Amino acid sequence: MKAKRRFGQNFLRDQSIVRAIVQCIYPLASQTIVEIGPGQGALTGLLLEQAGRLAAIEIDEDLLPGLRQRFEPKGLYLVSQDVLTIDFHQLATQLQASRLRVVGNLPYNISSPVLFHLLDYSSVVKDQTFMLQEEVVDRMVAKPGSKTYGRLSVMLQARYGIEKCLHVPPESFWPVPKVQSAVVRMQPLTEEQQTVRDWQIFAGLVTQAFSSRRKMVRNTLAGLLDRLDLDAVDALPTQRPEELTVEQYAKLANQLADSS
Ligand code: SAM
Repeated sequence: MKAKRRFGQNFLRDQSIVRAIVQCIYPLASQTIVEIGPGQGALTGLLLEQAGRLAAIEIDEDLLPGLRQRFEPKGLYLVSQDVLTIDFHQLATQLQASRLRVVGNLPYNISSPVLFHLLDYSSVVKDQTFMLQEEVVDRMVAKPGSKTYGRLSVMLQARYGIEKCLHVPPESFWPVPKVQSAVVRMQPLTEEQQTVRDWQIFAGLVTQAFSSRRKMVRNTLAGLLDRLDLDAVDALPTQRPEELTVEQYAKLANQLADSS
C-alpha cells in the first residue's frame, strides 16, 4: 500500500518504539482512549489490549477495511471522519466516558489545527499524548529565556502541563520523514491552576509581545502600556518577550481584561 502525502502518512514500523510510546501513554483498563489516525494499526493493537475502551478516528477510507477486519472484533469503535470535525463532548457521551485520553501519531500537516481544535474540549480530556515534530515539541515545553520559548510555549503552557516523553528517530517510520519526532504528553490544567480570565485578550497580548523577539516589551507592547502595570508583575520595560514567564503574561492579560 502507498503512503498518502495529503494525509501526512508516515507509518510506525519499529516495534520497540511502538512499545515505548504505549508505555508513555500507560493505558489502564478503567480508561477510554481515542486514537487519532490509527493508519495501519501500529499502535492500535497494543492500545486495544491495555485500555478499557478504544475508539479510533481515521480519515482515509482505504485504510478502514483493514482496521475493521483486524480490530472491530476485539472491540474497536471506529469513526470514519476528519478529526477536525469531531465533537469530543458528543464522542465522550457516545463512549459513556466522563473523560477521554486522546492519543496519536499525528499527521504533521494538521498537528497545530488538532491542538487548537482540542482546546475547546479540555473539560472532557484527561490528557493527550501525541507524536509530533520534535522541533514543535521543543517549543511547546520551552522555558523562559531559552531560544525556543515563544508564543506557542506561552499559549499552551497556560492551559496544559506539558512534558516531552520520548525522542523518535526518522528511521522508525515508513516513509522516512525528513524531520526528527518526539512524543509529548499534555494534561489540561484544572480551573484552579489556570490564572487567565479572558483567553482572547491573553492570545492578543502574547501575539503582540512576540511580534518581534528582538525588541524590548516597552516597544512590542507600546500601544498597551497605559493599561499595563509591569511593576506589579515584577517585569521590566527593558526585558525581551522571551524573558517573561507564562504567569507574568497571564497577570498582564488580566490587567487588560480588568481595564476593558
Ligand atoms: N498511527 C499510525 C502509525 O503510527 O503508524 C499512522 C500515523 S500517520 C502519521 C497519520 C494518520 O492520520 C494516517 O493514518 C492518516 O490517514 C490519518 N489522518 C490524516 N489526517 C487525518 C484527519 N484529518 N482526521 C483523521 N485522521 C487523519
